[in-house]
Amino acid sequence: MARVTRTVIVRSTKLPRKVFRVFVELEGMYRNMIEQLTMYAVRNNIKSFTKLKALKYRELRKLYPQLPSHYVYTACQDASARTKSFTRLKKLGLAEREYPEIRKVSIWLDDHLWKLNGLTSIRIATHKGWVTVESDPHRQYWRYVNRGWKLASEAKIKLDKRNKQLIIYLTFVREVEEYKPRGFLSVDANENNITILLDGIAYLFETNTEKLVLGYYYRRKRIQERYDKLYGVKSRIKRKVIRKFKERKKKNDIKWKIANIIVRTAYERRYAIVLEKLGKKPANSMIKRIRDKQLRHRIFQASFRGIQRAIEEKAREYGVPVIYKPPKGTSTMCPIHNVPIIYNDGSRIGRCSKGGELWHRDVAACWNLLFKALRGDGSHAPSPAGHIPVDVSPMPLGTNATHDPTRVPRAVWARWKSLEATPNNPKITGMTL
Ligand SMILES: [Zn+2]
Repeated sequence: MARVTRTVIVRSTKLPRKVFRVFVELEGMYRNMIEQLTMYAVRNNIKSFTKLKALKYRELRKLYPQLPSHYVYTACQDASARTKSFTRLKKLGLAEREYPEIRKVSIWLDDHLWKLNGLTSIRIATHKGWVTVESDPHRQYWRYVNRGWKLASEAKIKLDKRNKQLIIYLTFVREVEEYKPRGFLSVDANENNITILLDGIAYLFETNTEKLVLGYYYRRKRIQERYDKLYGVKSRIKRKVIRKFKERKKKNDIKWKIANIIVRTAYERRYAIVLEKLGKKPANSMIKRIRDKQLRHRIFQASFRGIQRAIEEKAREYGVPVIYKPPKGTSTMCPIHNVPIIYNDGSRIGRCSKGGELWHRDVAACWNLLFKALRGDGSHAPSPAGHIPVDVSPMPLGTNATHDPTRVPRAVWARWKSLEATPNNPKITGMTL
């Protein structure tokens, strides 16, 4: 069972003046608590919510006796989340200040602080007692309700002062059960492409991650330097530009598209997804050590992990099982003969040292991942022939044949929802060296 959550935003109707005042005051008190708590947590290096609550609960209760006590809990949760993300940015060298700046505040509510009042209004506990707020539910809200999603006990509210409205963030939850896999889809990712093996055919999705990731990194650095010179290190304008830049990057993010295709393809066939188990080296010193020779490697590792996380998240939503296998030897051993494949001069095509057949590196990696999954362990022992279904074993090709993937250019797969490719699909160019 996996828990899948979705946030739905609902706007209240325009608040009556009295109610609006109550929320202005509530937001003010909540903001003060957050400011105090994050300052304290950063200064004393407290990352755990329970510890922060244990240390500050009494004091804050005394300061705001009129507030329902659960606001202190949620403020501690909010503050410890802010502290964690600030510490992370600090480590990356991206935070300029000593303490996190509390700019936007949304008030966190737990099950003691709000309840549904019918389906179009909610009640919120405040320092002035329970206040009823009428909402104007979006179509999306009804869609989740009608599809049997359940509302989570936590919610957030934000005050839109200009429109005198509350913006309500509701969380919907659904439990999804994983199915028993009927087969496997293995995935290999590297700098320039993602290769998948499906029913004996390898498809190589061209991504140009290298250009994308490094391009982004250097562009961001250039912007930062230019604005440092123009406006000084602490400029607001620079931050705004970088934020815009980040948003654009997110929109163009290919990882969600590719994750969607992979997960839906596995889901349609009731297959499990096989991924390489990546190392645990933290990527956070990535940006600091810019001159480091391993920079490229680290950035790529980080971007692979991003792809893996996207696949994991999508898979959870669909109930697709995900299996991890150690990457050791996946691209260097011949999947048929279990002997080294010899690659010359950094070529991606190598020759099997026993059978003499040619292997594309990523195709070999996918086959080996598949076999590891079929064997159910991470060993390199030759697989007992009986364990591998005939229809998924690599074709026994002659000495001059190549296990080459079917290439799918980005312009083609970008429009797919799942794998539309068949060996006869004219849109993909196959079997080229
Ligand atoms: Zn071989």
